[in-house]
Amino acid sequence: MKISILCVGDELLRGSTTNTNLAKIGQLLGAAALFPVMEMSVKDAGESIIDGLGVLLPRSDVVISTGGLGPTSDDVTKTVVAGYFGLKLEKNAKVADRIKSFWSARRLGKMPSSVLNQALVPQGAQILENRTGTAPGLVVKNVKSGKTVIMLPGPPHEMTPMFEEFVVPYLKLVSRDRLYTEVIYVSGIPESCVEEKAAPLVSSGSGLSIAYCASPESIKVFLSGRKAGAVAEKMREIKKTLGENLLLPGAKSIAEDIYLLLKKRKYKLALAESCTGGMIAAAVTEIPGSSEVFSGSAVVYSNDWKEKVLGVAKTTLEKYGSVSSRCAVEMADNVCVEYGADAGIAVTGIAGPGGGTELKPVGLVFIATRYVGKTVVEQYKFPGTRDMVRRRAVSSALNQLRRQILN
Ligand code: AMP
Ligand code: MG
Repeated sequence: MKISILCVGDELLRGSTTNTNLAKIGQLLGAAALFPVMEMSVKDAGESIIDGLGVLLPRSDVVISTGGLGPTSDDVTKTVVAGYFGLKLEKNAKVADRIKSFWSARRLGKMPSSVLNQALVPQGAQILENRTGTAPGLVVKNVKSGKTVIMLPGPPHEMTPMFEEFVVPYLKLVSRDRLYTEVIYVSGIPESCVEEKAAPLVSSGSGLSIAYCASPESIKVFLSGRKAGAVAEKMREIKKTLGENLLLPGAKSIAEDIYLLLKKRKYKLALAESCTGGMIAAAVTEIPGSSEVFSGSAVVYSNDWKEKVLGVAKTTLEKYGSVSSRCAVEMADNVCVEYGADAGIAVTGIAGPGGGTELKPVGLVFIATRYVGKTVVEQYKFPGTRDMVRRRAVSSALNQLRRQILN
């Protein structure tokens, strides 16, 4: 069964609303072992929606649309879809009653008559109740072609529960060929090296397919196939070849992996950040339960504060400068002592775009990591914009500490 997605809304094309519905639908379909064939985003205009249906319907059995179901005049999805299949719109009394009681329960005053436009539904459509809003979802099946269009409202808090409650069970029921996907998280090696290790294990005739997705946090490896058992078995093999680069079960980022490693050992982590300005602390504190491991972070941007807060020696700053391996080591050592931590990370560097010199160019970053009394310092030279330099410093710092813990 081929599924495609039609996202309706001017705001999506303008970039003023991020298309989170597409990501959410992809995730929910994936969790149900379903995989859409394509997606299209179109304007809130009749001809655009017709263009979208013209592209997607011949290539899919089910088109799922989101957006354009609201009460205002720019919401035209159901009118256009009904017209496309030659169906009239008719008032649904049950939906009208629901809308009225939803409106009065919220004490919004007199209801504009346009709100009841949402009770107009294409003839013969199946209605998906909207428990968190007023516009119902609509399922229209064209008898002649056997094709189905499922229309869902645009607001994510209305679309998501409806998708989970009605659309997933419906699709599971009507689709025979589901695609099972398992995902693992890898770090510490480039994407190309992950492929070099994993791809030879997946032969072309096996019915399995492998895909990779790299981000500064980790590399995701997806393995898909029609048989859940075969996917699981092959994934076990792939995990073995990745060894230490495989993150712990439950970890989706290097920060989460470090959190789990330190938690198991009942160790504490402290950070001293200069050019990353607290980004590592943000990555760590994003993890629920991080207080079990994380003591705290000192964001010491100026030389003064490196000295005052962290006790970096005046002579170090004068002789080597704040962007130096010596300063990084003192920051890491001292923050661990000050915060009573067993593990520590210190970062100092030149994020740019200004401030670089011939000797200390933009992108030069020193990272010191300390683990149970031993400190390691590395010099990095990151390419890219200020944002990229800082993000790379964060992932390299976490990777450096992770390697040290595992060794
Ligand atoms: P609707 O009236 O059904 O078109 O929905 C409009 C509301 O839902 C607006 O607040 C939109 O920004 C939001 N919305 C519509 N489509 C999407 C989408 N694909 N992803 C995220 N939000 C969306
Ligand atoms: Mg809209």
